[in-house]
Amino acid sequence: MGYDEQLDRAMAEKSEIDAEESRFDVPDPNVRTEGNFTVYENFPATLDRLDREQRHVLQFIQNDLGTAAQIDENGRVRLTGEFDADRIAEALDDYVERYVRCPECGLPDTNLVEEDDVTRLKCDACGARTAV
Ligand SMILES: [Zn+2]
Repeated sequence: MGYDEQLDRAMAEKSEIDAEESRFDVPDPNVRTEGNFTVYENFPATLDRLDREQRHVLQFIQNDLGTAAQIDENGRVRLTGEFDADRIAEALDDYVERYVRCPECGLPDTNLVEEDDVTRLKCDACGARTAV
């Protein structure tokens, strides 16, 4: 194997490791249908993982799914309409990309802050502040 080839291989391995480290797993949505509603059972666990405000996450999910939702007394979400777990997982992925993962360094060690009426994603890892 030539030097260039080795270098290519080393680079390829490195980027795989980076991708692995920057993975951010939220719990798989556990959902069930109840009449005309979809109950998202493990929303509280997901919120813990996201470390974001309940209202903010809920608003995003509602917009993404194009439906109305309520939080019940146990912190579960009741979505109007039928949605499967994959569809909700997709919405959560979008949320993570937009409001959790730092666009500069890709790490999820971030906070949402309000500055001059602009919401910014502030990264604890690299210090980037990005308007969202
Ligand atoms: Zn960052």
